[in-house]
Amino acid sequence: MNSSHDSHAADGLADGFGTRAVHAGQPPDPLTGALMVPIYQNSTYRQRAPAEPIDGYEYARTKNPTRLALERNLAALESGRHGLCFASGLAAINTVLNLLKSGDHVVAGDDLYGGTWRLFEKLYANFGVTFTYVDLADLAALQGALRPNTRLVFAETPTNPLLRICDLRAVARLAHSAGAKVVCDNTFATPFLQRPLELGCDIVVHSLTKYLGGHSDVIGGALIVNDDELAARLAFFQNAVGAVPGPQDCFLVLRGTKTLHLRMERHCQTAQRLARFLVAHPQVSKVYYPGLRDHPGHAIAAAQMNGFGGMISFVVKGDVERGKRVAARARLFACAESLGGVESLIEHPPSMTHASIPVELRRARGLDDGLLRISCGVEDADDLERDLAQAIEAR
Ligand SMILES: *Cc1c(COP(=O)(O)O)cnc(C)c1O
Repeated sequence: MNSSHDSHAADGLADGFGTRAVHAGQPPDPLTGALMVPIYQNSTYRQRAPAEPIDGYEYARTKNPTRLALERNLAALESGRHGLCFASGLAAINTVLNLLKSGDHVVAGDDLYGGTWRLFEKLYANFGVTFTYVDLADLAALQGALRPNTRLVFAETPTNPLLRICDLRAVARLAHSAGAKVVCDNTFATPFLQRPLELGCDIVVHSLTKYLGGHSDVIGGALIVNDDELAARLAFFQNAVGAVPGPQDCFLVLRGTKTLHLRMERHCQTAQRLARFLVAHPQVSKVYYPGLRDHPGHAIAAAQMNGFGGMISFVVKGDVERGKRVAARARLFACAESLGGVESLIEHPPSMTHASIPVELRRARGLDDGLLRISCGVEDADDLERDLAQAIEAR
């Protein structure tokens, strides 16, 4: 178990987010003074004597110094006491579900990451866990869905792809009064924009693959919690299941988190500008971005986030083919799944990330045929705007 609060070089100084991003969990290497945490590429450690490991280092599935540095860094960024890293975001979510047993119930948002939904319905449902999906922005719906056996409420905010916002404080209050823990997948917001533990949530989930890694070159996941006993249970599953990241991947994510605050500022700035451009475009019928005043979650987002993020969804007028054509015609925006890298991406959920949802259900859930989702990178906004314009206007 990896408390973030035991040995920071920058402890006591590292109050600001940017300072924590650069320093937390990463004192210079004691052997050489190397500023960057070394990639400890090893599986085992010589012990002083049988059952006398040095500083708890017995075997690298259980503990690795590069991973530990990342776990401490992420815990500090999320205002948490404990961080745990995994081989992917889904491995992290799976570890949360390891807390459950047959007969338990989970309430989850109804606009979830598809892989999370698949894990719930195609795996855990087979083991006697039941799931109810509600729009967590609707607190009466959440209240109505809670049962005596509800153990977890699983939230995403902003959601994917419709960028809906839920009030995490209110969700936590209702869930706690029913005896359930609140899990928040904070992948879209990142701790720079939103820190769910400060808002009353119990477990923060990340896909490190997205903004935290930030460069589209690594798959990883993390959990951050405050409660010592919960952290110990999750660390037990981390070791018992073994879906841990390698040290090279941890190193890459540590490189990413150092510039998280700089990248997020730019992602937000560009997204705000492109959202305004899209609103004014005659070929665009809807724009989903929490930074727009008429977004239904705008006031809550303004209160619980420090910015509105780098993701925008919008609807072009026309059919599925029209939507696909816009994604195909974009040149700077690469047509690709995923998000959160320095390069801009565009995707067409109806034919890509959300293609597995039957067409009637998809439309009923507000995923229009012409829906497109963009991840705004850190290129020049002028160029990005020109590229969107030509892609939308191309016939
Ligand atoms: C990508 C993503 C995941 C899954 O993470 P992987 O690293 O791909 O396993 C989970 N939640 C959200 C919101 C995501 O965007």
